Amino acid sequence: MRLDTVRARSILDTRGRPTLETTLIAGELTATASVPSGKSTGSHEALELRDPDGSVAQALAHVTGEIAGALTSREFATPDELDATLIALDGTENKSRLGANAILSVSIATQRLFAQATGQPLWKAIALRANTPSRAPRLYVNVMNGGVHANFQLPFQEYILVVDGKTSDALPLAQEAFTKLGERLGAGVPMGDEGGYAPTFDTLEKPFELLSDLVSTLPGTSIAIDAAASELFQGGHYQLLGKSYTADELATVYEQLISRFPFHSIEDPFAEDAHTDFTELTARLGERVLIVGDDLTVTTPARIASARRAREINAVLIKPNQVGTVEEALQAVQATFAAGWEPIASHRSGETDDTFIADFAYGVGAHGIKAGGLGQKERLEKYERLLAIERETETV
Ligand code: PEP
Ligand code: MG
Repeated sequence: MRLDTVRARSILDTRGRPTLETTLIAGELTATASVPSGKSTGSHEALELRDPDGSVAQALAHVTGEIAGALTSREFATPDELDATLIALDGTENKSRLGANAILSVSIATQRLFAQATGQPLWKAIALRANTPSRAPRLYVNVMNGGVHANFQLPFQEYILVVDGKTSDALPLAQEAFTKLGERLGAGVPMGDEGGYAPTFDTLEKPFELLSDLVSTLPGTSIAIDAAASELFQGGHYQLLGKSYTADELATVYEQLISRFPFHSIEDPFAEDAHTDFTELTARLGERVLIVGDDLTVTTPARIASARRAREINAVLIKPNQVGTVEEALQAVQATFAAGWEPIASHRSGETDDTFIADFAYGVGAHGIKAGGLGQKERLEKYERLLAIERETETV
């Protein structure tokens, strides 16, 4: 494939912040991709290039300048080859020269172009590239927001309803739960960054009491959290609702919560570099729940391999923009499966209407997909795309 044109523009994400949208044209084919943006960003993530004024002007100039120059001058046989060219062109460990946002927007649009060129649906092209069996991911529906996504109204960043089964069965259950929860919380409850409710409670347990009430009436559902504990970590302790906890004390909190409530997984239970605390918690609770690495592993194959050696987790969050290319995100999925762990594909807290992550989750056969709450269009579009994939696969 030879690219004729590489275009980019700045669009706004769900927080009203600028992000990049890139369009690639190759002969008759056109593909567009836009990239999301995190807020509770891990310090080991690839770098999202922003100008001091918050714009993405430099990243945009890299796409239409240096990247366009390097890509339009040659032929690419596979998307892997094109991603390798992007990685080499940037030349840094963390994509800090051209920007992971610039690179990923091109990488995702490239995956779309190659899918079109081979006449495959996007999820299928991803599955063939990843060499993994596809399946519908469990829905990890964000119902309540806390942490940095809601001014720490609640201590943990995400309170999630996990729904098993095919999307057309799971989504109506999630919708029912979301509506019931909204009624319980009452009118005027604010919304958090990820499109879930952002209520305030004065005990750690209260949100879980509400959630387990819902779970008890809805078959195939359970509870997950993203503690996003790097954001709770200050001066060697974890701060929750005005109380300070050591890592050991926090582990006991998790143990009590999962003993009392129907938990499925706990993401980032400790700060991003607290490796031994992860290992101890996984030894203690890993038979009962998934312990998920996000800031710990940042979708990076080498960090996943090192977490594997130390048995730090048993599931990995996969966010393509943490690493910067589709190729490396697929390698992260393969490293996760190689460890015998579960990959969970994830959006970011600042999103666009791009639904790539839905095709990615289905294509690689992820255990689950975190696509946010049902109170924001950009989140709903990911669920809608999963429904469309289900319809597509059932009529083949
Ligand atoms: C997360 O931490 O899992 C998340 C989706 O939030 P953010 O995009 O802000 O990192
Ligand atoms: Mg997280």
